[in-house]
Amino acid sequence: MRKLKVLMISAHPDDNELRSGGTALKYVEAGHEVRFLSVSSGNGGHQSMTPDEIKERRYKETREVERITGIRYDVWLDVNDCEVEASLEMRKRVTRYIREYSPDIIFTHRTNDYHADHRAVALLVQDSAYLLIVPNFCPETPAMKECPVIMFSYDGFTNPPFVADAIVSTDSVIERKYEMYDCHESQMYEWLPFTKGGLDEVPLDKVERREWLRSPRVPRDNSLTLADYNITFRTTASEYREHKSAMLFRDRLIERYGDAGKDVVFAEAFMLSEYGKKLDEENMKIFFPF
Ligand SMILES: [Zn+2]
Repeated sequence: MRKLKVLMISAHPDDNELRSGGTALKYVEAGHEVRFLSVSSGNGGHQSMTPDEIKERRYKETREVERITGIRYDVWLDVNDCEVEASLEMRKRVTRYIREYSPDIIFTHRTNDYHADHRAVALLVQDSAYLLIVPNFCPETPAMKECPVIMFSYDGFTNPPFVADAIVSTDSVIERKYEMYDCHESQMYEWLPFTKGGLDEVPLDKVERREWLRSPRVPRDNSLTLADYNITFRTTASEYREHKSAMLFRDRLIERYGDAGKDVVFAEAFMLSEYGKKLDEENMKIFFPF
């Protein structure tokens, strides 16, 4: 087996977990190496704590994710939340960071995601893609020999359309994915419900609130349709969210897993960036070996 180096780059601590956390766990389980990078400190994400307080708290939450998963979790604490820019200085920083780790595959946001920071990070990764192999750019950090595969995570936005070039069943790791969510106390149980007007509904008890986080739960017979999504979600990590890619891209799941694809309940989908290494049928099996 070829051991892969996997890099997931997001704007905020918790984005990688939400968008591609199940896939990260599957890589780790299969013996590959995964690293998370949050380009900002996430110090904007709270309704009552100061930026310094929330920065420290969120950093501790990422240590907890690191502890329970074994995934190295880097956070650029000097970059403010809501202020990530696709500047030349940041392009150099991202290029150097990627070159130093030299991943085989990168996962990041799409450039039309809703948050300005997400878009900036997506753009930074795309801006760096070709430059990774250009020795005269950032000459102090050796250039890579070839560009990694670059995948964009599913985000729910439809214009431009998302194409599910790769799909991963996350059924076997879904409990552990919720354990990762649970580490992000300040977000899952405080800030995100606050932004959705549901803070009063969050249970205080730790077991109850974890059940609340994944509610509403989805029926395991895959009977949900898009029409069922016409409800207001008070939680950011409801099982509906985890299920949506399996429902939307069922054909891809069946192509990938055969008949077993019909029964998959939870999945994560990814779109291939045209600026990274190409992914054909053959190397798809190498880069998505599960
Ligand atoms: Zn984010």
